[in-house]
Amino acid sequence: MQEKNSLDTPVRYFKGVGPKKSEYLSKIGIRSAEDLLYYLPARYEDRSKLTSIRDVKIGQMHLLRGEIATLTSRRAKSGAVVVQAAVTDRTGFIHATWFNQPYLKDQLKKGDELLLYGKIELFDKLQIVQPEYEIVDENAKESLGMGRIVPVYSLTANINQKYLRGLAFQAVTKYQRYVAEDLPTYILARGKLVDLKFALSNIHFPVSFDNLDKAYRRIVFEEFFMLQLALALRKRDAVKKEAALSFNVKGELADSFRMSLAFEFTEGQKKAIADIERDITSGRPMNRLLEGDVGSGKTVVAAHALVVSVQNGYQAVIMAPTEVLARQHFIVLSELLMPLGVSVALLVSGIDQKTKEGIYSDIKEGKVDIVVGTHAIIQEAVEFKALGLVVIDEQHKFGVTQRSILRQKGYSPHVLVMTATPIPRTLALTVYGDLDLSVIRELPKGRKPIATYWVEEEKRRSVYDFIKEELKKGRQAYVVCALIEKGPGARVQGPGKEKKELYDGYDAKNAVEMFEKLKSEVFADHEVALIHGRMSSAEKDRVMKDFKKGKAKVLVATSVIEVGLDVPNATVMLVENAERFGLSQLHQLRGRIGRGEHESYCILLADPKTDEAKKRLEAIEGTLDGFEIAEADLDIRGPGEFFGTRQHGLPEIRFGDILKDFDIMESARKAAFDLIARDPDFREEHHRHLKERLAVRFKGKMDLVKVG
Ligand code: ADP
Ligand code: MG
Repeated sequence: MQEKNSLDTPVRYFKGVGPKKSEYLSKIGIRSAEDLLYYLPARYEDRSKLTSIRDVKIGQMHLLRGEIATLTSRRAKSGAVVVQAAVTDRTGFIHATWFNQPYLKDQLKKGDELLLYGKIELFDKLQIVQPEYEIVDENAKESLGMGRIVPVYSLTANINQKYLRGLAFQAVTKYQRYVAEDLPTYILARGKLVDLKFALSNIHFPVSFDNLDKAYRRIVFEEFFMLQLALALRKRDAVKKEAALSFNVKGELADSFRMSLAFEFTEGQKKAIADIERDITSGRPMNRLLEGDVGSGKTVVAAHALVVSVQNGYQAVIMAPTEVLARQHFIVLSELLMPLGVSVALLVSGIDQKTKEGIYSDIKEGKVDIVVGTHAIIQEAVEFKALGLVVIDEQHKFGVTQRSILRQKGYSPHVLVMTATPIPRTLALTVYGDLDLSVIRELPKGRKPIATYWVEEEKRRSVYDFIKEELKKGRQAYVVCALIEKGPGARVQGPGKEKKELYDGYDAKNAVEMFEKLKSEVFADHEVALIHGRMSSAEKDRVMKDFKKGKAKVLVATSVIEVGLDVPNATVMLVENAERFGLSQLHQLRGRIGRGEHESYCILLADPKTDEAKKRLEAIEGTLDGFEIAEADLDIRGPGEFFGTRQHGLPEIRFGDILKDFDIMESARKAAFDLIARDPDFREEHHRHLKERLAVRFKGKMDLVKVG
């Protein structure tokens, strides 16, 4: 693959690139002409306008042109060599100062006409410090670094800005002509998009900022368009390949279910139920994401859908990411549905083999209506008699892939995905772009807001006093720690990448010691219990039951309680080392309280070491709205970290910014979905190539994108 006249041309064929440089370039992913074309500048500097020396502003970057009047070189006290040129342009004098570049003394000489770009400072005299320079040569070719909007690239060792700029220029002038236009003309026209060749030359060497905008928009549009096209295909496949069950939503069972509830549905719940009913009666498979904050009442909405499935003679499944959550769902659903004669079974790994096998065969024979379990268990071995509906809870926690596994086993159920992490619309369109969306915005009426306080260590005593008051009133409390136990091997909780650098070397409270201390000293008059992820399921189960029954008053826990536990009488949550928890994690934790009739209090003991941690604490203190928190979280951490890891289906985005370029995402989405609606199999001439382009683009990069 070394043809010289193609985009595959290795960079070695470029002027100025030998084996060494080519090796260095490969460190930043540049191996071919095409790589160079798509190695977009990280930013730009406006060096298009000359400033007269008398007009410079201290602290600003300026482009100057002037003649060297004197040139000196000296050694500073620090030992560094300082080369200084007094430069004049007839409006004034300025001193260009370079450190540690002694060779400049020989490269420059009195009388040279210079272009200088750099920051203006005032130390004794007016200076332009460490400027980039060019000696003006009227016969020289076009300058890449001066007198224009100049691209600034991210660099790697041994590759400097000027050099990379030169390579980019070679790529643009010699190879840009070989790029193929992938976007059909009508899409370019509708979107007022420039063509790819124009975009590539202007993204590197923009003639104007207006052209740069157009270039950027075009390149990002194409990236987003391909992504949305893949999502549109995924949706098309979901809809096309399956003969969907069409349920009857009216019936005795559904009626009794509604009647059995002690409350009215909220508007958001009603809307979500209506959305679901529309899906499951449409004759096409439901593929819906139900978003709603903790406590917004998603589970009841899901239960309603489960009931409809059962009423129509089909089994239903609800899959949870953790055992704790599965058990919790099981308890809630049993309470809701068993009285109606619906049989509910729990499948988690803690169950012994024999019982498990019994449940398997009951499911196969159709004796079980609803199966609740962890996704792992359900995926592995379960065979259904007739599966009608799959509810997947906390989807984002276990990835997009699993969603399809049950389907691949030959079942064609309706699918409802629930998540309590409110996903900003931006991301919803990207990651779950193939799902329909229902959002429950409000919490059920009568919920008391949770007062949240961030306090420092010195307040610990008064915090304990406050908790004692609550206990005296008959309430219960959670104390959440970041670690299970002390010492090496203790699993460190923490949001993302900062944990390693920051958390080593200072002591976080751990649940085991905290439990001992609270039990024997602080809350010696009360029953204190402990729960954490290393306990067996049976133990955890017992502890949760005790706490729910009110036997234990204080529950010392790790974030295992993040999801699931529903104890309305618990009104206080104390989070130790709150700076170690992620924003959505804190929000989830806080969702454990404020579930009953009493005022609730969330107290965050924290000593944040970074601005990011401070921002998190301020955000959680400042609002109860999960969507606001999610947006703050996204803002603080960026999309990648927001989702944890790539396996959660967030495709790699190279050029665009899914937050800032949301408008581009929306128009790309519209174009892509319109295209698939009109020509789902790429039959039209100007769409044909897209199939292959997609296959290449998403090869191994995005789960579930099956093209064709
Ligand atoms: P989510 O799953 O969204 O976190 P749940 O479905 O677990 O929320 O609901 C939280 C609590 O609110 C449950 O105790 C549930 O019974 C109750 N609930 C749900 N919907 C309503 C409603 N419309 N009015 C009052 N309480 C409700
Ligand atoms: Mg729930």
